[in-house]
Amino acid sequence: MEKPQILVVEDNADNMKLVSWILEDAGYEMTGVTTGEACLELMEHQEGETPEKEFDLILMDISLPGIDGKETTQRIRNIPSYADLPIIALTAHAIKGEGEAIRASGVTDLIIKPLQEDVLLKRLSAVLKN
Ligand code: MN
Repeated sequence: MEKPQILVVEDNADNMKLVSWILEDAGYEMTGVTTGEACLELMEHQEGETPEKEFDLILMDISLPGIDGKETTQRIRNIPSYADLPIIALTAHAIKGEGEAIRASGVTDLIIKPLQEDVLLKRLSAVLKN
């Protein structure tokens, strides 16, 4: 079986490093970008007939420079072939109501930081199984 391809959108270098260690250790292949704009550029590029890489899942930080993770998710959902692509949001915000706003943007699941390895891996495999 091919390694699942994960696209990670994260602007914090330490978090990106942590996520890449966890994912690569667990046998996933990952591509990292630091902005929502870069994520969209990559996703729109894949709309072409010969995508360089098909992503199985996106890990989306919510707090990003430029457009945030919610806006990025909404724009991905507007691309018809990505209507059902699994997107797991990562957020440090545990503010009341913020979780609902994030879910309303169209994410599949939501994980609150600080990131725990076992939680991330469990949620990833649960979402990828569907
Ligand atoms: Mn961030």
